[in-house]
Amino acid sequence: MDYDDLGFSTRAVRAGHRRSAEGEQSEPIYLTSSFVFANAAEAAARFAEEQPGNIYSRFTNPTVRAFEERLATLEGGARCVATASGMAAILATCMALLRAGDHIVSSRSLFGSTVSLFEKYLTRFGIATTFVDPCDPEAWRLAIRPETRLLFVETPSNPLTELADIAVLADLAHEHDALLAVDNCFCTPALQRPLQHGADLVIHSATKYLDGQGRCLGGAVVGDQALLEEVHGVIRTAGPAMSPFNAWVFLKGLETLNLRMRAHSASAETLAHWLDQQPTVERVHYPGLASHPQHDLAARQQTGFGGLLSFEVAGGREAAWRVIDAVETISITANLGDAKSTITHPASTTHGRLSAAQREAMSIREGLVRLSVGLEEVEDLEADLARGLALI
Ligand SMILES: *Cc1c(COP(=O)(O)O)cnc(C)c1O
Repeated sequence: MDYDDLGFSTRAVRAGHRRSAEGEQSEPIYLTSSFVFANAAEAAARFAEEQPGNIYSRFTNPTVRAFEERLATLEGGARCVATASGMAAILATCMALLRAGDHIVSSRSLFGSTVSLFEKYLTRFGIATTFVDPCDPEAWRLAIRPETRLLFVETPSNPLTELADIAVLADLAHEHDALLAVDNCFCTPALQRPLQHGADLVIHSATKYLDGQGRCLGGAVVGDQALLEEVHGVIRTAGPAMSPFNAWVFLKGLETLNLRMRAHSASAETLAHWLDQQPTVERVHYPGLASHPQHDLAARQQTGFGGLLSFEVAGGREAAWRVIDAVETISITANLGDAKSTITHPASTTHGRLSAAQREAMSIREGLVRLSVGLEEVEDLEADLARGLALI
């Protein structure tokens, strides 16, 4: 059945599931490393790729394929390749599309391990990266070199919720024969579909909102057939394939994605307005606030403002830690995209390995607190934060 004409939530619940002869209602988990052939000739035909079908779960697996088909249609892409983690998705994309001598222009506001991958590991293989301000198209343009093959961005960014204009970056990439990859971890296809704005590839850490309940690591890359064929080649050869069990968890996660993302966004918006009114809060970063410098772009590019926000308290690190240490409901952890709200102090955790000067350049200040707003009652989250804010 072709689901592409049906609505988003219908596809999120139904796409990718091919009922087996058992007639199961919920998607089965094919927990098997290899697959059996009817005879030697069939085995030979499968290996020669003359006959479609499964061989080994590093190559393909029916549960993983169901997840890939479901996410591909949600992102509006022709094909998806699932990976063992979000970082495996980024690594496989780079290995598939780049070679020694190539150059990446990347947002400087990136997940920490992505920065390490680009700076510490890809450089060993002759691939250089220039980091730029994600909000400044002119900075991207100036950083492009003849050998630039990839533009890489997260939008909105973590923890400051800075936005990049996907359509502008896509045009810029294509003018220079480069590709644009968007890490869509924070919005998910429920709130933002980068391929519709001209991006070539969408990357996911499924670990976050696609699961939505903090259980499994996984990742994915979505795009057109030819590019994804290359990415799949890397995964099946190098090994970081998604486990069928995790694919099943993510399939179930996708069924509630739209509902959850709207609930996360609604609570985050309420909390952002509430925090904005607290006397000890100096600043709130949330794209849904009219005061956000890119509020209009967010309203245009996204269909919701997401569950992630950050705020700056008066009194630096001491005050920020006081707010964090006073919480009783919210979890103190750096993870995000969970039904359980999480709180973290970026300057001493996710961005703790950067120098003070680097943090200053990125506006990661000592008083900054990041919140991933979960699905608890928003009044309980306000009360949890109010306790610490009153101590400042
Ligand atoms: C968590 C995260 C990743 C990495 O994903 P893993 O599943 O932890 O490997 C990449 N990008 C963003 C934006 C993330 O938040």
